[in-house]
Amino acid sequence: MRLDVVSLAPEAFAPLLSLGVIGRAFTAGRAELHLHNPRDFASDRYRKVDDEPYGGGAGMVLKPEPVFAAVEAIPVLPRRRVLLMSPQGQPLRQDDLRRWAGGYDQLVFLCGHYEGFDERIRSLADEEVSIGDFVLTGGELPAMTIINGVVRLLPGTVGTEACLEEESHSALLLEHPHYTRPASFRGLEVPAVLRSGDHGAIARWRAEQQQQRTAERRPDLFALWQAQHQAQDP
Ligand code: SAH
Repeated sequence: MRLDVVSLAPEAFAPLLSLGVIGRAFTAGRAELHLHNPRDFASDRYRKVDDEPYGGGAGMVLKPEPVFAAVEAIPVLPRRRVLLMSPQGQPLRQDDLRRWAGGYDQLVFLCGHYEGFDERIRSLADEEVSIGDFVLTGGELPAMTIINGVVRLLPGTVGTEACLEEESHSALLLEHPHYTRPASFRGLEVPAVLRSGDHGAIARWRAEQQQQRTAERRPDLFALWQAQHQAQDP
């Protein structure tokens, strides 16, 4: 998977390359990271990448020319998706990560800065993505969040295919609780069923816990799961 990032702060991405399993995916060549700084494509003497908004107002706006030039210099693979980081985008879901990891050979990330970007930059993007209902200073952390989540799904990055498979079947449910040794810690006991060796009973307990937790903590997800479940086996 080829990942291209257009950012005024390309140095922000360095930690990704040394980040445990994600870093190893880059070392092993499963993912390639290419960084592009619009400042290198600014044509004027001062390498200006931002300007005042027409009509006035606070803050500076990312100019279109250097961003277009940066994007146009990126090689185009056949199956490519251009993602614009924006708090006005569609909220990111695990399904999106799965769709991008499975359906494309190249993802291009456009990171905004300052007050935002000139509206015409939107025309470069296939999708606008938000990582949540809050505002950050730039698109770098959102892009790194997505890169982490996508690279994690590439075959060979984490654990076994079975782990990811299991995860996608219960995508809308939160995970069941985990315990490790010791069996008793400060008076808190590991549930007996987990120590019973009865794999059927353990699987049932985990499934119940998943549903119960999701219903308590995320009734919105639980309602979606119930609807999907009923559609599958009425
Ligand atoms: N004034 C803009 C916000 C600009 S924040 C507005 O109200 O829409 C500066 C940049 O940070 C954005 O262009 C975007 O690239 C990035 N950014 C900030 N918060 C984000 C979020 N929740 N999700 C994705 N990108 C975000």
